[in-house]
Parts: sequence; structure tokens; C-alpha cells
Amino acid sequence: MAKKQFKAESKRLLDLMINSIYTQKEIFLRELISNASDASDKSYYNALLAGKTPDRERYQIRLDVDKVKRTLTITDNGIGMNKEDLEKNLGTIAESGSFRFKAESEEKDGVDIIGQFGVGFYSAFMVADEVAVTSKKEGEDTAWNWVSKGSDGYTVTEAEKASTGTEIVLHIKENTETENYDEFLEQYRLTDLVKKYSDFIKYPIVMELTKSRKKEDSDEYEQYTETETLNSRIPLWKKSKKELTEEDYKGFYHAQRYGFDEPVKTIHTSVEGNLTYTALLFLPGTAPYDFYTKEFKKGLALYSNGVMIMEKCADLLPDYFGFVQGLVDSADLSLNISREMLQQDHQLKAISKNLTKTIQKELAALCSKDRAAYAKFFDAFGRTLKYGLYSDWGMHKDVLQDLIMFRSSKEEDYTTLKEYLERMPEEQKYIYYGTGETKEKIRLMPAAEGVLAKGYELLYFTEDVDEFAVKMLGTYGEKEFKNITDADLGIENDTEIEEKYPELMGKLKDALVGKVADVKTSSRLVSHPACLSTRGAISIEMEKVLSAGPDGEMAKAEKVLEINPNHVLFAQLESADEERLNLLANVLLDQALLIEGLPLENPVEYANNIWKLLEK
Ligand code: ADP
Ligand code: MG
Repeated sequence: MAKKQFKAESKRLLDLMINSIYTQKEIFLRELISNASDASDKSYYNALLAGKTPDRERYQIRLDVDKVKRTLTITDNGIGMNKEDLEKNLGTIAESGSFRFKAESEEKDGVDIIGQFGVGFYSAFMVADEVAVTSKKEGEDTAWNWVSKGSDGYTVTEAEKASTGTEIVLHIKENTETENYDEFLEQYRLTDLVKKYSDFIKYPIVMELTKSRKKEDSDEYEQYTETETLNSRIPLWKKSKKELTEEDYKGFYHAQRYGFDEPVKTIHTSVEGNLTYTALLFLPGTAPYDFYTKEFKKGLALYSNGVMIMEKCADLLPDYFGFVQGLVDSADLSLNISREMLQQDHQLKAISKNLTKTIQKELAALCSKDRAAYAKFFDAFGRTLKYGLYSDWGMHKDVLQDLIMFRSSKEEDYTTLKEYLERMPEEQKYIYYGTGETKEKIRLMPAAEGVLAKGYELLYFTEDVDEFAVKMLGTYGEKEFKNITDADLGIENDTEIEEKYPELMGKLKDALVGKVADVKTSSRLVSHPACLSTRGAISIEMEKVLSAGPDGEMAKAEKVLEINPNHVLFAQLESADEERLNLLANVLLDQALLIEGLPLENPVEYANNIWKLLEK
């Protein structure tokens, strides 16, 4: 009989599984049990949709071991697969929902990949050298047998099977020098694995266990067998909080593949009344590898009374809380509801609103009570919160403004805006910030000198979204935000000094006509001879961000060259003839541009100007 080939991507993944040096081979069992559970869910759900009253207790997942034949069999009485399903679901990885296998992942080493993804059905090949699937789909008469020894292909033939459902027989590999496979035929190991990974599966996972007991009226022991349910079955979120330990929550978090780190915060809440639901939410401590890409699917799993309706319900979370993982279970939601109708659903909207409030409250509490944990969270997802502030024309200000943090000149770690305000001296008019690549670079900016010398606190904006976010915010606690490169810093004495030297400033302005909007003496500079500031809405950093976009040419900052009258160079400016003044003006401007990280219009001219000055 002709072998069929796996689709190219599936073959790559299979090879990875077969040759895997991944230490956690044991997860294959979790994967197969989860598939069996999904198949039972589908069967139950289908029956409900058909208007029947299905019996949840009908479903069972069975493990059987034959040590002589070296087989481990996983049997379910779920929905089953017909010939097409087998070919489609097991022949091409593209059909597998949980594994998004990409070309680039080949370049990383296989160890990571397997740990990070749900690997699904093919993980069986980590422990088995042959996998045989016999399945009969509900409502159909013919059963089918799918067999594969690995990446050289598979066969599908008609088979005998009395009941509907799926039976998967793994022929367990022989031990090697470095790997022990025998353990996957041991009952103690299998029962441990079920407890570890699949305890919350709602269907009974049963296995015939060999036990020993003392014989009656004798000191001898005898062996007997007994079929036992290995898992506790009650969905974790339905257990009372008191019963649950941090370990339980963590185990669930990992089993559900919400992340492979530790959650920074777990929120388990039940609401009763008009709206009845239970939510189990996790704040991950690190961003998933694809979090900041389009591939990432935000959302919470949605259950109706313990039956999963949707795996990732995006409508339950606002985008700015898209990093939250977890699930919502509500008896108020109808099972029959379609995905389209779900979007309009009042209950769902109300739940989403409630959850948003809950998450905000929990984040705020974490921020004030456990700053280290919040900082870890913020490192991973702070960007999303800031985008949230900026998006939808600042509509989510009230939710988010106290959740964002910045680095600052007065704090080792992050500061909130509220804390900034509390430290602010009374006469300080604005909340000052500087923008740049790193906080060190911002601190060394000429424009920072004056503000810091005044003893005012400076916020370091190192992400491109920062300035846009506070612009959208406008004010915090009635204080406006002020970029330190703004021409008007609202610091005293500004005007007094500015009015000096009008003649010299006029000459410099003439020398730089078309290049800057103005030249003035500065009160903000201490050790630098000159710096750039801006007037109006667009700052230099915004110009950089915007000039990368489609309207780049239009988005120019209105630049002012500020000169330090207390710098030794100032005397040279005063005594220079016209030609030398021209040279000095251009060099000062170009240097100020370089310090700001802006490109020079004419680098050759800049170099020549310096040479000319040195020759003079
Ligand atoms: P995923 O579970 O993420 O979809 P898998 O690789 O684990 O990916 O499984 C691929 C597909 O094979 C499943 O989506 C399902 O359609 C089908 N499948 C696997 N095991 C079973 C089973 N025991 N019963 C019915 N269908 C199954
Ligand atoms: Mg699966």
C-alpha cells in the first residue's frame, strides 16, 4: 500500500520531534490527553447544539499499558475522526491550532521551540517509534486506521472499531544509553504525569492499576488490579480559593501554556448577582515571543458552565490589557451562541467592563504594594499600557494614567506620575521630561543641565511611544508636561538673560537663516556652549519618529539655537569678524544637531568648517 507523505512543514516538525534532545519528553502525554479532552468537548457540544441533553459522565479517557508489547494506548470516546480528518489533522501541521511553525524557528535550536509552543499530536514521536491511530467519527459507520513510523509518511486504511472515538497506540522506543523510555510504561510514572499536567481535565482519566494488599488472615501480600480515576477533574477555577495553593495556580498556568515563566499575579474572582461569572486571570512576567507582532492572539478562554465555547475571546479584553491570560466561565452565556452574536452580547460586554476594572485595580494595587513585581511586569508590558494611553484619542486616560511609570533623575527605579507630583517643589510649573535612547544620554543632554541644576526632577523617556502618550494625556494633576528642549521652560530669569545681546543674536540668526527659527541666549546651559530647543507642538524626538512615517517631510520641529552666555566660547563670538562668526554659528548648530542625534544636512561642509576654524 502506498505511503502518503507529510506536508513539508509537518515533516520538519516531525524530524524535530524524532531527533529531539528536549528533556521534557514527558509532555507528550499532556498533549494527547488534551486532544482527547477536546474531542470529548466537541462531542458534548455537538449534542447540545443538536438539542439533545448529553451526559457529561459518558466521556472517559483511558490509559492502557502493555509492557510486553511496549505499548501505551490512549483511548477516548469523543467525536472521533474520519478518513479526511485523519489526513487533514494528522498529515499537515498547518491544521494544528496550537503550533505555528515558522521557517525562522528552524534557526533557533529545537530545545527552546518545543518548550515554548504547544507541540500537539506529533510530540508522540518523541517517545514512540510507531504511532497507530484508530478512529470512528460520530454519525459514521466506517472506522479508519492511521499509522506512521515517523517522517517517511503514513498510511490510512479501513479498520474495525465498534464504538465511536479514538484510540492511539504508541509503540514506545527502546531505551538508549542516554534516554530512558521504559518509564513511560510504568504506572507510577504515568499517574504522576497525569497529576502534574492533566489534573484539571474535566473528564475522568482512568487506568487499571496493579496494587498489593495484605491477604486476609495472613502476613503475605497479594497483587490485584483496580481501575482508578487519576485526575481530580474539577476545573481548577471552580474550586474554592481556600483550597488552592500558589503551586496549583502555577501548575495550571503552565499546563494551559499561558507562559513558560511564572505569573507575576494571579487573579481568581467570582461574581454573583445580575452577572454571574468566575474569572481566573494571570499577569505573565515576560512577554511571549510574538507579543509585539500581528501573530499574537489576545483574549481569554470563554466557558459556559465548564464547557469551552471559545479558546481566545478577544472581546473580553481591551487591547491595552491584551497581555492578560486566563479564562472566564459564566453560566449566563448560552452555549448555542454563535461567534458573531457573541460580539453583540450584553452579558459579554458587561463582563468585559467588569474585568477591565478588576485588572486595573489589581495592577494599581501591585504597583503600590509590590513595586519589584510590578516593575518586572512593566518591563514586559509597559509599552502596551502607554500605547493604550495614546490610542483612541486618549479615551482610556482614567484607567491607565496611574499605571504607567517612567525612569527619573530622582529615583533608582521607576516612578509613577503621582509620585513625581508628590516630590515636586511648589514653584515648579511643569513636569519635565527628556527624550533619548538611554537615560544616561538624556542626562548628558545640554538641555537637561538647567532643569537638573535647578533641582527639578527629570523623567527619562526612552521609548518612542512615551512622548506621544503624555501629549495625549496633556496634563497630570493639572500640571503640563514639558520637554526640556522646549524653548520656554518656565524657569525663572529666562527673559532677563534672553534680552541681553540682541545685536549678537541677530547676527547669528542671519548666519543661520533658513536653518533655525531663532537664536537666543540661554539660561538652561551650564557647561555646554550651545543647544537646540524647539517651539510649538513638535519636539525633536517626535520629528525623528514622524520623519520615518509617510508625512515625514511635513513634520519638522521649529528649532531654536540657544547660546550659553557664560561659556568661554561666548567671548570669541563677541569678538569674531563676520566670516569667523559665520563659521562658528554653523559649527555650533551642527554640533547641537549631532548631540540631538539628528542628521547633518551637509557633513562635508561641517568638517571643512572645523578645519577652517583650526587654520585661523
Ligand atoms: P491542536 O490540538 O492544537 O489542534 P494537535 O496537533 O494536538 O493540535 O492535533 C491536531 C488535530 O488533530 C486536532 O485539532 C484534532 O482535530 C485532531 N485530533 C487529535 N487527536 C484527536 C482525538 N483524540 N480525537 C479527535 N480528533 C483529534
Ligand atoms: Mg492538541
